[in-house]
Amino acid sequence: MEVFKGTATFSGIAIGKILYYSRGEYQIRQSLVSNVKKEIEEFRKASDRASETLQGLYEKTRLLDEQEANSFSAQKKLLESENFQRAIESCISSEKVNAAYAVMTNRDEMTETFRNLEEPVIQKRISDIREISNRLIQILGGASIRINLGEEPVILVTESLSPAEIMEMDNDKLLAVVMHHGSVVSHTSIMARTMEIPTLVDIVADDEWDGMSAIVDGYTGTLYLNPDEEIQKEYKIRLEADKKEKEELLKLKNQKDMTADGKSIGLYANIGNMSDLNNVLFYGAAGIGLLRSEFQYLGRENYPRESELFLAYKKIAETMGDRPTVIRTADLGADKQADYLDIPGETNPVMGNRGIRFCLDRKKMFRAQLRAIYRASAYGNLAMMYPMVSSEKEMDEIEALIREVKENLREKNVPFREIRTGIMIETPAAVMISRELARRVDFLSIGTNDLTQYTLAMDRQNPLLKDKYDDHHPAVLRMIRMVVEAAHAEGRKAGICGEIAADTVLTETFLKMGVDFLSVVPACILPVRKALRETDLSKE
Ligand code: PEP
Ligand code: MG
Repeated sequence: MEVFKGTATFSGIAIGKILYYSRGEYQIRQSLVSNVKKEIEEFRKASDRASETLQGLYEKTRLLDEQEANSFSAQKKLLESENFQRAIESCISSEKVNAAYAVMTNRDEMTETFRNLEEPVIQKRISDIREISNRLIQILGGASIRINLGEEPVILVTESLSPAEIMEMDNDKLLAVVMHHGSVVSHTSIMARTMEIPTLVDIVADDEWDGMSAIVDGYTGTLYLNPDEEIQKEYKIRLEADKKEKEELLKLKNQKDMTADGKSIGLYANIGNMSDLNNVLFYGAAGIGLLRSEFQYLGRENYPRESELFLAYKKIAETMGDRPTVIRTADLGADKQADYLDIPGETNPVMGNRGIRFCLDRKKMFRAQLRAIYRASAYGNLAMMYPMVSSEKEMDEIEALIREVKENLREKNVPFREIRTGIMIETPAAVMISRELARRVDFLSIGTNDLTQYTLAMDRQNPLLKDKYDDHHPAVLRMIRMVVEAAHAEGRKAGICGEIAADTVLTETFLKMGVDFLSVVPACILPVRKALRETDLSKE
């Protein structure tokens, strides 16, 4: 047995077999082709497209990062080289296989041949071949971002996962996730928490673990590889105890969110996916306090159409009935990327063109989302809020767009409701002008994940900062208090939707500050409800 210590980002215990996933390498089905010439044509077209993309990436990164730019240019050269082209074309014609499969075979053969050569130049070339091949495979339509987890539920072990990858995963097949990269508040971990998957980060994994038995302890951040019998026995007992504890909590499903002395609090759920709706209902959340709408824009080839967004929001509005749903308008950029968004390379994406800035730069995309939200508002109790706001000027632009959208809907006799709006307080600037911002909307929702990152100037995703990124920092807590006071001074509501909202150690502190609502991942609704109900504000 071997024991590895990492950081737990969602509690829970998992016992099972490991599936090691190499990021970006897709498994392709082989199919026999009758028209070899046509298949070679397909491959050439895909090569041309990949070449164009690499050229575009070179142009985009040239001024920002010369080394990265040169690497795209080297990949382009390699892709266009006669050797590379010939190897794949001859595989298609001699074996009569589909182009994607031929690309994959070539990729794997090259990797295998040079596996043991450690010279950096060769290793770089192999990694270039891998990247080009994966790009080609995607263009050839031979793979999707969805990772095939197989038939039996597994513990997925990998270097890193993007938010889009975890979102696409089949929840029932996933016992736990173990990654090298990521942090407690990275979006991938937040998604895993929403999906209730015990997750560990900061564990350097090995592809040889594939198929081995393991235990993930999401309370202590421990991974046991090939656990011995004693440990297995212990964890089976703990798994049972865990289940019992959950059953006990489930008794609170239909209870009110009220302190022992009778103060009502809004306890809402954070979700990113339509499939999370079931858990919102299951745990009896009073509503959805944060719908991370950008996930509908990820893991796909093109912008979602207005009608697609409308149908999704309408379904949520109808399912939730009277219970409110706050749609956070798309918070794209930074770690939430898709190729079609064509976001130019940035030296510091977290400080870059993201959130509301990005939406205000892409008015067509933003208008479509606003229209979809307003159209869906006729079917339930919707509200919306804007991410990463840092100035009143942004609010001027948003308000102008909303006026235009509403006018247009009125002209066309499309029904809609006047919905509540809110601003996410995620930047120190927004904290400092929170009174002015509060006047513009109905509520303020504090996003402490980003607010901590920008206040402490510490990347929330950087594992090296895991012991330093501190959302309990007095500066953050003081800011929360300031925002609540500012909102109340303007007769508005204020709450928290960052991960800290689920920290029951702080529940009483938040209540004493006068926080009106907390929004947490569905799995934390009941533990927070328990903490609320045990708090007595009348006692000093
Ligand atoms: C936050 O920043 O606290 C927040 C809730 O938004 P996200 O985690 O999606 O950035
Ligand atoms: Mg945020």
